[in-house]
Amino acid sequence: MLIQHTGDRRWMMTILLITVLSGCASVTAGPITTPAAIFIIVDGIPADVLENTATPVLDSIAGKDGYTRAFVGGEVGGATQSPTSSAIGYNNLLTGTWANKHNVYDNQVGDPNYAYWDIFRIAKEHDPTLHTAVFSTWTDNRTKLIGDGLEEAGGNKLDYAFDGFELDTERFPHDLLANYIRAIDDLVTDEAARYVESDGPDLSWVYLEYTDSVGHGYGDGPELTAAVQHMDGQIGKIWSAVQKRQQAYDEDWIIIITTDHGRDAKTGHGHGNQSERERTTWIVTNSDDLNEHYYQTPAIVDILPSIAAHLRLKIPENIRNQLDGQSFID
Ligand SMILES: [Zn+2]
Repeated sequence: MLIQHTGDRRWMMTILLITVLSGCASVTAGPITTPAAIFIIVDGIPADVLENTATPVLDSIAGKDGYTRAFVGGEVGGATQSPTSSAIGYNNLLTGTWANKHNVYDNQVGDPNYAYWDIFRIAKEHDPTLHTAVFSTWTDNRTKLIGDGLEEAGGNKLDYAFDGFELDTERFPHDLLANYIRAIDDLVTDEAARYVESDGPDLSWVYLEYTDSVGHGYGDGPELTAAVQHMDGQIGKIWSAVQKRQQAYDEDWIIIITTDHGRDAKTGHGHGNQSERERTTWIVTNSDDLNEHYYQTPAIVDILPSIAAHLRLKIPENIRNQLDGQSFID
């Protein structure tokens, strides 16, 4: 990820606004495009690692303005403080709330509070015909966090799910270096790309795990760098599918890529605590509708309202009032 700070953005917006306003009278309505959203969590990649690794695909998705540092972990020492661990982070994104609300404090996901709706439930409540999909290297994302099919979690919310492979130890024998996780990530990536191109779901989530496995196994160093570069290639397959959809159909896609936590500063092996490096994450997006909040270190809980804004989802007032985030999309 190459970093370019764009201090002239405010001026650009002003010029753009003047141009739009002065051109209003002559603007005719174009064809109505269908919005679509795909978000991708790649596990446990600190912002500094991403920024120091060549990731041409993420660079091209971000363009000039689509990269920002972000944070996880809630307020240090406050009620919202949330462990910088995986399932907690995923659920911060999925529900737009911190752990004191969604009640997931570890990767066991013992008793999630489904009163804080996930993005798929919001989408299906808004319009049951919206097409939803999950592609994931960790099955609990669907069965526990989303709670798909559970009455208390809103019933069936996913039209398509591609997961379960880490539980198939015959096909994917578990090895200490987690090569099986990389193989599953590759499988999940290929299916996500194939399905996006063929079916164009309105809302989908891709979860890839290998970068965190390498972080735990090797800590900071060339192995983690190589894993991040491999991830960039995987994103390239999905991004290519999104671009093909946009060329073939009248669809307006947003892609958001982020991570669930950083890593400890000393070795990079661990995470879970509230150090600056563990809390510091990043977001990459292709969106052209980013507002100032995007450049003010947004939080992982800001992603849900941003996706909802892009998809123009109506969020029930009692659910909206519970959200801890705000949209970085206008
Ligand atoms: Zn993680």
